[in-house]
Amino acid sequence: MKIVLATKNEGKLEEFRSLFKDLNIEILSEKEFNVGEIIEDGITFEENSLIKAKTVSQISGLPALADDSGLCIDVLEGKPGVYTARWFNEFSSYEDRCKKMVELVDEKNGSRDAKFVSVITLYYPNGETHVFRGETLGSISHELKGNLGHGYDPIFYSHDLKKNFGEVSIELKNTVSHRGRAFQKLKEYFKNL
Ligand code: IMP
Repeated sequence: MKIVLATKNEGKLEEFRSLFKDLNIEILSEKEFNVGEIIEDGITFEENSLIKAKTVSQISGLPALADDSGLCIDVLEGKPGVYTARWFNEFSSYEDRCKKMVELVDEKNGSRDAKFVSVITLYYPNGETHVFRGETLGSISHELKGNLGHGYDPIFYSHDLKKNFGEVSIELKNTVSHRGRAFQKLKEYFKNL
């Protein structure tokens, strides 16, 4: 089976391809089709993930997969959530964004509990849709730790690993991460087809 991945990010493409390497599924890049910019104007991870998967499936005529993810912080009432990728984008580096996020949480002086969420949607051309959600719990640390991973990993203290995501290998992170958990559910779905 051929499936198109709704992303312009090469790293994500490689990640999905490695997940599917032992299944009989070929992951194509949306770059092979004339997709253009997709406006992600949903207010939930599910909505944005569906918008991307549906658009790419309709354009390509093939099943499509999309994921949407973000960081939800209790003291910020679940923000930045679906706006994580756009949050603080006046700062070009994630090091600066992480520092600003710590400052913001410090100012609020409440619970530092947080979670990362990942929602993967599989959309077939006939409209059949399957949704896989993964979450991982943690808290926002007082300072940046580690230089591994990406995005907000240096300030996310994982309750499972008892370390910041920035301090652990991608393999270890994936055993408990939001995306790893959503991936596992997706893989189970394909194994049971
Ligand atoms: P999107 O899923 O590509 O829309 O991006 C969501 C944003 O959430 C990313 O740009 C990162 O800032 C953040 N994010 C999502 N997953 C992770 C993660 O595993 N570690 C650190 N930051 C993440």
